[in-house]
Amino acid sequence: MVVYDAVVVGAGVEGSATAYHLAKDGQRTLLLEQFPLPHSRGSSHGQTRITRRAYPQDFYSHMMIEATHFWKDLQKASDVQVYKPIGYVVIGKHGGQYLQNNIDAMKKSGAPYTVLDSAAFKRQYPMLNYPSDYGGIYDPDGGLLRADRALNALQALFKRYGGEIRDGQRVVQVTPEGQGRVTVRTERDVFVTRSVVLCCGPWTSDLTSQLDLKLQLQPVRISVCYWKESSQNSHSYKKLPTFFEEKCCAGHAIYGLPSEEYPGCVKLCLHHGPEIHPDRRDVVDDTWVRRSLSQYVQRHFPGLEPTPAVVETCIYTNTPDRHFILDTHPQWKNIVIGAGFSGHGFKLAPVVGRVLSQLAQGKDPSYDLTPFRINRFCPSAQL
Ligand SMILES: Cc1cc2nc3c(=O)[nH]c(=O)nc-3n(C[C@H](O)[C@H](O)[C@H](O)COP(=O)(O)OP(=O)(O)OC[C@H]3O[C@@H](n4cnc5c(N)ncnc54)[C@H](O)[C@@H]3O)c2cc1C
Repeated sequence: MVVYDAVVVGAGVEGSATAYHLAKDGQRTLLLEQFPLPHSRGSSHGQTRITRRAYPQDFYSHMMIEATHFWKDLQKASDVQVYKPIGYVVIGKHGGQYLQNNIDAMKKSGAPYTVLDSAAFKRQYPMLNYPSDYGGIYDPDGGLLRADRALNALQALFKRYGGEIRDGQRVVQVTPEGQGRVTVRTERDVFVTRSVVLCCGPWTSDLTSQLDLKLQLQPVRISVCYWKESSQNSHSYKKLPTFFEEKCCAGHAIYGLPSEEYPGCVKLCLHHGPEIHPDRRDVVDDTWVRRSLSQYVQRHFPGLEPTPAVVETCIYTNTPDRHFILDTHPQWKNIVIGAGFSGHGFKLAPVVGRVLSQLAQGKDPSYDLTPFRINRFCPSAQL
């Protein structure tokens, strides 16, 4: 029987990036996915994601140095444009705490940025309508990632390095055996491996709970809304960078991107949604989300129609502090977990994949993983 060096469960962006790094390191790697690929049931589908160096925590901003290099290299290696550096702006009260936290973190990580005071903000973005004391922080390294293309490119390179993908294979059980082996059972097959990496997105708890590990993960449904520019619009939204405002809409953040996938439509979403189980994603009422967004659009984006022209669906898997889980199982070091990406994990997948692949190989990770440890929520999970 074949013994793999690593089996990665879940071919979303985090699992695919992990599998890529493992195969590149010469590890015999199998990537298992429950649905036929590609699919739109998890968190990694769709055409665009925001990328940025701007973060209120310097550890993410620091990780983004490597991630940004990776996306540019992936572009070259795959001959597909995945990164469009159109910039990113954090919107907020000029001099307010949230903007200041971003400035502090960017300074610490050496990221370039420009502070836009209220006059500069108004001049730069005449298509927006914010109070006169509002401004922004502009991040020139920010922009958008073409998500579907990036995911395809990652999986193609993984295969080029000798990796094997099997889709339509739901993992139903992960059993640690003696002598550093793990058995991975799907509905059809059984695989033996030296290490396993669980990157199961919103389904993670289904497998970790079998391994006596209760992770505080909460999947939420996100309505991905596209708002059409109205015909009487005096200022086009074409020059808009990607953008974010903290706690501004029903107590939650909003974020958005200029027209990319649907001509003439700005993508603007709430950074939150109703709690769900991923197998029953669409059985919830999200009227409050659309109503809150519509009010926000009418207040601040006067040139957009107040009802979304297109609505798609995606899932976040939130942790209580919205930071990722990147760790080994407290008892079995060859079971690695990457989860809880809380709606901001796409851009960082190259670094996430690298550290998870290092943990799976028993190597020291190249970043301090303290903010991402399991035992910050489960003190009994001694590592
Ligand atoms: C609307 C939306 C907007 C976002 N915007 C941004 C953004 O602008 N910038 C950013 O950086 N991030 C963003 N994110 C977050 C980012 O997309 C996610 O953090 C990331 O995609 C998470 O990837 P994942 O691989 O953990 O999960 P997933 O993509 O859900 O992948 C998990 C995979 O595991 C598979 N799986 C689960 N259980 C099993 C099993 N038992 N057996 C086999 N396979 C299994 C699933 O089918 C799935 O394919 C956004 C997310 C959403 C939903």
